[in-house]
Amino acid sequence: MTILISLYLFALGLACGSFFNVVGLRVPAGQSILRPPSACPHCGHRLRARELIPVLSYALSRGRCRSCAAGVSPLYPAGELAAALLFVWAYLRFGLTVQAWIGLLLASLTVIITVSDIRYMRIPNAVLLAFLPMLLALRLLNPDGRSYIEYFAGAAIGGGVLLAISLLSRGGVGMGDVKLLALFGLVLGWKGVLLALMLGSLAGTIGGLLLVLIRKGKAKEPIPFGPYLSLGALIAYGYGDAIIDGYLNLFK
Ligand SMILES: [Zn+2]
Repeated sequence: MTILISLYLFALGLACGSFFNVVGLRVPAGQSILRPPSACPHCGHRLRARELIPVLSYALSRGRCRSCAAGVSPLYPAGELAAALLFVWAYLRFGLTVQAWIGLLLASLTVIITVSDIRYMRIPNAVLLAFLPMLLALRLLNPDGRSYIEYFAGAAIGGGVLLAISLLSRGGVGMGDVKLLALFGLVLGWKGVLLALMLGSLAGTIGGLLLVLIRKGKAKEPIPFGPYLSLGALIAYGYGDAIIDGYLNLFK
């Protein structure tokens, strides 16, 4: 049964991931997510049904448009695959529970944000506002044995700390990141969101150094922080309690 549900969630994740790409690429550009249907941005060739199969279409066409052979961004299959793997992960980690539902929403949000932030260096308010009521409702439904105050404190502290960093760094961190971390705080609680921020900063530092190495020293280009915060939030959501307990035990 576990395998069947995992396979189902993998397929569902691929299909949803395809939609998340559309949301992440169109919403920041002010375009409708329903129209027009997907087309090649170079030649305008409308994608047919067999060109819309997640990951597989990309692999079969070797990442090229079937009409004009222009390169298709690897963001597409990456977003689809990430959503599929995260959906399966949420289920394997939390079973058939409200926690898993929150995990699915968190996975969806992080994929959309990552696509949007990599492509446009933006985290659209519309996306955050769409997820806010869903995440809040599920959190109130299942506070996971904690007081509601922990989660509202998480939103205030997550947003507050990053806002302070943003003001001190004079634009190094955008307002989109601040709002994103406040939303993560609402889901993770105040301890979890601080862990997410630490993990995200660590991952961002490593990622930034790798980019400098790859680009041979062009360090001035800004790097999007949203994907790293997202990674930190997912790790904190899945394993935060274990990580925090393990860390505190070091001092016992
Ligand atoms: Zn084309």
